[in-house]
Amino acid sequence: GGKAGFAFATGMAAEATAIHLLKAGDHIISGDDVYGGTYRLFQDVMCDFGLEFTFLRMDNCQKIEEAIKPNTRMLWLETPSNPLLNIVDLEMAVDIAKKNNLMTVIDNTFSTPYFLRPFEYGIDLIVHSTTKYLNGHCDVVGGAIVTSTDELSERVQFLLNAMGTCASPFDCWLVLRGIETLPVRMRQHETNAFAVANYLKQHPAVKRVYYPGLESHPGYEVAKRQMKGFGGMVSIELNGGSEAVHTCLRRIKVFAMAESLGGVASLAEHPATMSHASMPKEHREKAGISDQLIRLSVGLENSDDLIEDLRQALEPR
Ligand code: PLP
Repeated sequence: GGKAGFAFATGMAAEATAIHLLKAGDHIISGDDVYGGTYRLFQDVMCDFGLEFTFLRMDNCQKIEEAIKPNTRMLWLETPSNPLLNIVDLEMAVDIAKKNNLMTVIDNTFSTPYFLRPFEYGIDLIVHSTTKYLNGHCDVVGGAIVTSTDELSERVQFLLNAMGTCASPFDCWLVLRGIETLPVRMRQHETNAFAVANYLKQHPAVKRVYYPGLESHPGYEVAKRQMKGFGGMVSIELNGGSEAVHTCLRRIKVFAMAESLGGVASLAEHPATMSHASMPKEHREKAGISDQLIRLSVGLENSDDLIEDLRQALEPR
């Protein structure tokens, strides 16, 4: 539903380009449990170039409004968020943005355009890591920006050229091949994610399951309204200390322990030491990303095999 799409070398290259739409002195309000690399780009790189960031849980309209300053220019949204699968109500976020003349950017990597079409809610700019579901085969890194206006398209085109963040033709070809099967893959990712989430929610070793498709998830109603499906990512918090987490990650066989996500093969990772290791512990704790959290990217294998793998990994021995 956008005006134009641009391909980048990685998801981070797309994000770095998008954030260059701003200039020194501008303030950005971002979700607090965004991808760890996004946090690192903002906090450890762009702050040195004069951008200012406030990280917030994006579920509370009053808190967002209170964080707006005279120099606020952008709301950076991720829904479902990485790794806690929090849901941002896009109608609410866009309403605040429009009232305060802010640009809205959404990282739509987890939902994909198949499950969520952010322009229908008035979002200005969409970024993707195409490394994930859009390519879907764990064999390329790439990113994308989709724009809603000719003015933004022109500026992104300029930045892509000026910054040299573009994708290689071969990588684009791989991603285009992946997109051809996006709908069937997304439906199966979701079916498998439901099977895994429903199995884990009754498991005694599991303290909490984070999956927006479960009615117990705080964002369930919003997700149901705004998305066509709940996606393939499931996070779990285990009972016990770090030993429980490491034992589980050591024992998994069908799930591979790796940081990426969104491909045909199931992956498991430990945000505190992997995808979100660059977030300081205090920030992780404040955002609710505990050391007992494991993030699962549920792939397209037979769900019985995935459940059996988790059963044996979580079994007391
Ligand atoms: N956005 C999200 C939500 C991600 O999970 C990731 C990577 O994990 C990125 C962006 C960055 O993408 P890439 O690894 O393609 O640079």
